[in-house]
Amino acid sequence: MTIVSDFTVTSRTEAEALDRTDPLAALRDAFDLPPGIYLDGNSLGPLPRATREAMRHAVDVEWGADLIRSWTRHDWVELPRRIGRRIAPLIGAAPHEVVAADSTSVNLFKLSAAALRMQPGRNIIISEPGNFPTDLYILQGLAAFTPGTELRVLDPAQIEGALDEDVALLVLTHTHYKSGRFHDMERLTRAAQDRGALVLWDLSHSAGVLDVDLNGCNADLAIGCGYKYLNGGPGAPAFLFVAERHQAAAHSPLAGWFGHAAPFQFVDDYAPAAGIDRFQCGTPQVLGMRALDASLTVLDGVRPRDLQDKAQLLGQIFLERVLAKGDASLRLLSPREAHTRGGHVSFGHDDGYAIVQALIARDIVGDFRAPDAMRFGFAPTFLRYVDAWDAAEALLEVIATCEYDQPQFRTRAAVT
Ligand SMILES: *Cc1c(COP(=O)(O)O)cnc(C)c1O
Repeated sequence: MTIVSDFTVTSRTEAEALDRTDPLAALRDAFDLPPGIYLDGNSLGPLPRATREAMRHAVDVEWGADLIRSWTRHDWVELPRRIGRRIAPLIGAAPHEVVAADSTSVNLFKLSAAALRMQPGRNIIISEPGNFPTDLYILQGLAAFTPGTELRVLDPAQIEGALDEDVALLVLTHTHYKSGRFHDMERLTRAAQDRGALVLWDLSHSAGVLDVDLNGCNADLAIGCGYKYLNGGPGAPAFLFVAERHQAAAHSPLAGWFGHAAPFQFVDDYAPAAGIDRFQCGTPQVLGMRALDASLTVLDGVRPRDLQDKAQLLGQIFLERVLAKGDASLRLLSPREAHTRGGHVSFGHDDGYAIVQALIARDIVGDFRAPDAMRFGFAPTFLRYVDAWDAAEALLEVIATCEYDQPQFRTRAAVT
């Protein structure tokens, strides 16, 4: 399916017709969804039914009854690798190139530090302004911690020109958390590698929604989040990817015992595990891993191309309807063309915070990102085309009637 910007669904009936032929329609039943329209699956994915069952089992049987025996009886020790094998086909990786561990922030630190160590004589890390805050903060922290290392934050248009023999690493988030614009992974990876730099991709807003092809792009390193489109639950473990060709030379700066070649030999000296396992650190977060592993069964066998096609079409229906009927107070912050747009769509509005709150009061849940972005995530697993249509209608109505202009919608909460 090719989605072009002048594609329009001009009635709810047309959206219903798309739902009837949607190859992913059955996935919706895998979730336990609250009433309304949930447009925040890009920030915290909803609870799959299988995960509720798995958590009951994990608590009552594995933790409650079997306790320490569960490491082998229920294969807890294998969870990080098993999750890695489940995520691999969603991101174009081989099964032994991905492992679940820690958080996205910590994995960014581990892989960036590993990359610096692999690049003696090079001391510059490049990233882009407006990147997700933790990505920039972690890189600032790493640079402060490793004397001589410098972080350069450059506009994407300047990056290719700035790649020289001093650059150790380029760190980019594939799909921008606010605008939804995604980078050309293949081109930027090649440009960096041509100059001897490594590239680390943050897939937090791409994994489970876009047709990511890490090995097709010859990617070096990647990280991503478990609780967004992968539906692993609040604070779920994250994942990381190290291309097979780098695994022997890449060393985690957090040389914990779960990354050791033989953790249960209890020897004094660190020796890294042979493959991706060396990027585990301490004891896996078993409950979180159980949830993420169970949630990933929803995506077993699902083609990433189908996920991307549907997410982009959902977004297109929403944004074209809003652009067609909305007034000039709305500013599209996302690419209009689907070919560079991920799963979410953002509109700027001076009263964006209050508008999002008014929509939430109608059980239409998006989120707000300061200073002015209203963000709407179109997760292809559980949303229907009519949801995209209805969400656009609701947004238009809330604005046209000034329904948002009430004091209870203007008070800012700590988490937006
Ligand atoms: C969601 C997200 C993160 C999350 O990091 P945590 O360590 O889980 O808080 C990091 N980077 C990007 C680009 C994200 O979208």
